[in-house]
Amino acid sequence: MDFLLNDEQRQIVEMVRELAKEKVAPYAAQWDAEERFPHELVEVFAEAGLLGLAVPEEYGGLGAHPLTRVAVIEELAKVDASAALLVAVQDLGMTPILVGASEEQKARWLPKFASGEWLSAFGLTEPGAGSDPGGMVMRARREGDEYVLNGTKIFISNGSVAHGVTVFARTDPDSRGPKGITAFFVEKGTPGFTAVPMKGKLGLRASDTAELVFENCRIPAANRLGEEGEGFSIAMKTLDRSRPNIAAQALGVAQGAFDYALGYIQERQQFGRPVASFQGLQFMLAEMATEIEAARGLTYQAAIRVHEEGKDGARLVTANRYSAMAKMYATDVAMRVTTDAVQLLGGYGIMRDYPVERMMRDAKIFQIYEGTNQIQKIVIARSFLGGAKG
Ligand SMILES: Cc1cc2nc3c(=O)[nH]c(=O)nc-3n(C[C@H](O)[C@H](O)[C@H](O)COP(=O)(O)OP(=O)(O)OC[C@H]3O[C@@H](n4cnc5c(N)ncnc54)[C@H](O)[C@@H]3O)c2cc1C
Repeated sequence: MDFLLNDEQRQIVEMVRELAKEKVAPYAAQWDAEERFPHELVEVFAEAGLLGLAVPEEYGGLGAHPLTRVAVIEELAKVDASAALLVAVQDLGMTPILVGASEEQKARWLPKFASGEWLSAFGLTEPGAGSDPGGMVMRARREGDEYVLNGTKIFISNGSVAHGVTVFARTDPDSRGPKGITAFFVEKGTPGFTAVPMKGKLGLRASDTAELVFENCRIPAANRLGEEGEGFSIAMKTLDRSRPNIAAQALGVAQGAFDYALGYIQERQQFGRPVASFQGLQFMLAEMATEIEAARGLTYQAAIRVHEEGKDGARLVTANRYSAMAKMYATDVAMRVTTDAVQLLGGYGIMRDYPVERMMRDAKIFQIYEGTNQIQKIVIARSFLGGAKG
């Protein structure tokens, strides 16, 4: 599918491939084992412009096409899904600003994200509201020219390392479901806001995941994105734009696992010949390769549709369907392909010395976050039956 990329996009992918080879691949296993967020990568990615990919040029970013973004994330994920998530979450956390903020707010915050001086995060999920974000209970009470935030967000990627977090809270205490929810931008260090890292994850262990606690946290009313009650729509617009990035992350991991297993089975000898010579494994290989390519087709298509339909913060009409399809399909492919890659390596496949073990653990989360794959099915079906919601 790289025929869809233009020369400039190919050059960027090539640059990212070199960077990943030198600065990410040699350390990925160690970061995973230590369950450590690689702070050193932030500067590397910032210098390469990867943290400002989504920011329009007028605010200091690269203003990259969504297809460029998925190609970059895919390339990083081939060697380390956590490193790829750093770029994907920077995009995710900034998107509410891109789709919901005023010009003045964009000028205030986006240049810091574009340069990589600031990391972003997206705080939607609560302990009691995951698949159903309309069930959130976090409150934002207006007091003069401030809002007072109270509540907890959970599982927030980059939560404890981000300098600015978009959070969603209920401004209308009598509202239920998607109504009465408003988006806010909260800067790190604001009194009453604490972020507590969550340790012990199965995969993506080098990514930061945190619980965000707001206790009488006062923020200026000027940090509200959009109008009161527009928060749910801003969150859904954000996820529609971000899901191709998660599909790309899954795609990269699947490709990385496939490439590794392909090399291995040509070297490994049993019964006096390479195990790649057995038709049983060749059939597995053929299925894995075909599924990866199908996932790539859907992911690239979703990114292109997001670009075509998503200008000026518009609600996506059909691109939300393709984003959900790509996210669901590519993440299921990643789970199957990484599991098969482990199988192709036999007993060695489950050992930490071999990267497919980490890739299989990383793949599981893709089927869960940014909406579980059951929720993606609801989004896809609704796009046919009930129109795009939000
Ligand atoms: C590593 C990690 C990073 C994350 N990063 C972020 C982040 O940056 N920002 C953020 O806001 N959130 C983040 N999340 C949260 C993530 O999006 C949620 O975990 C996810 O949406 C599922 O919510 P839940 O865990 O509460 O599961 P639940 O909603 O409790 O789901 C439990 C099960 O029920 C199923 N289910 C629920 N409703 C339905 C339905 N209507 N039909 C069929 N099945 C259904 C689900 O598919 C699932 O299998 C992250 C999660 C993880 C693990």
